[in-house]
Amino acid sequence: MLDIRNVSKSYGNIQALKDVSFSVHASEFVCVVGPSGCGKTTLLKCMSGLLAPTTGRVSINGKPVSSPPPEMGMVFQDYRASLYPWSNVQDNVMLPLRHMKIPKSEREDRVTRALKDVRLEGFRRHYPWQLSGGMQQRVAIARALAYQPQILLMDEPFASVDAQTRAELEDLILEVKHKIGKTVLLVTHDIDESVYLSDRIVVLTRSPTLVREIISTNLPHPRHQITTKELPEFGHLRAHVYRLINETAHSLAA
Ligand code: ADP
Repeated sequence: MLDIRNVSKSYGNIQALKDVSFSVHASEFVCVVGPSGCGKTTLLKCMSGLLAPTTGRVSINGKPVSSPPPEMGMVFQDYRASLYPWSNVQDNVMLPLRHMKIPKSEREDRVTRALKDVRLEGFRRHYPWQLSGGMQQRVAIARALAYQPQILLMDEPFASVDAQTRAELEDLILEVKHKIGKTVLLVTHDIDESVYLSDRIVVLTRSPTLVREIISTNLPHPRHQITTKELPEFGHLRAHVYRLINETAHSLAA
């Protein structure tokens, strides 16, 4: 569905991405993991058409991406910057539907369904400041779901909440993905999160960035914060990804 082919990106004489290629298949959960500063945000911006790669190409369903494609929904790390503080929950979720040529009743149905998916039906008339950080990020997720994208792109979406909330949001996104069969690409620097959530992990090197390895996790579904993380395969995968990331750090230091 999403294809990233030989993408490089330079900012003046700083080469952030050197040569990145991988694909995301329909209904897959792919995590892109790499150390801070390795170009994850740059890559996401290239994938979503917000930034033009210096060389290479990004395509979705075979069509080149040159501006934000309607097939994509985005969820960012900073929910405070994503939500309008003067709009209540339902208006925030409705926002991207305003300009779609669909009947008002369908718009309302989509908002109701999305709020149900993130278990916020009872908070439609609350304002963002009346909600916890995790709840605000659920509003941002509902907004992306109501738009009904084919693929959800998430940039460190759980990095601004506490550990307990982070685990709850991870499980929520797995549940939603499973229920509506969405394709998800999530960028994170958290190795455990990448192993826990994904079907495949794309491990990046430090900048100038290459794909170090693509790993299939093959962990059973449904995943569980305790039992999945107790599995020997989970430990092996986690150690393997850690080694890959450390290896690139040491090869740079040498
Ligand atoms: P990450 O999201 O993995 O932390 P980024 O994509 O933000 O990485 O950055 C990758 C590299 O590109 C870093 O060295 C960063 O300093 C550089 N960079 C990012 N954005 C810009 C920009 N607009 N201008 C110049 N350099 C940039």
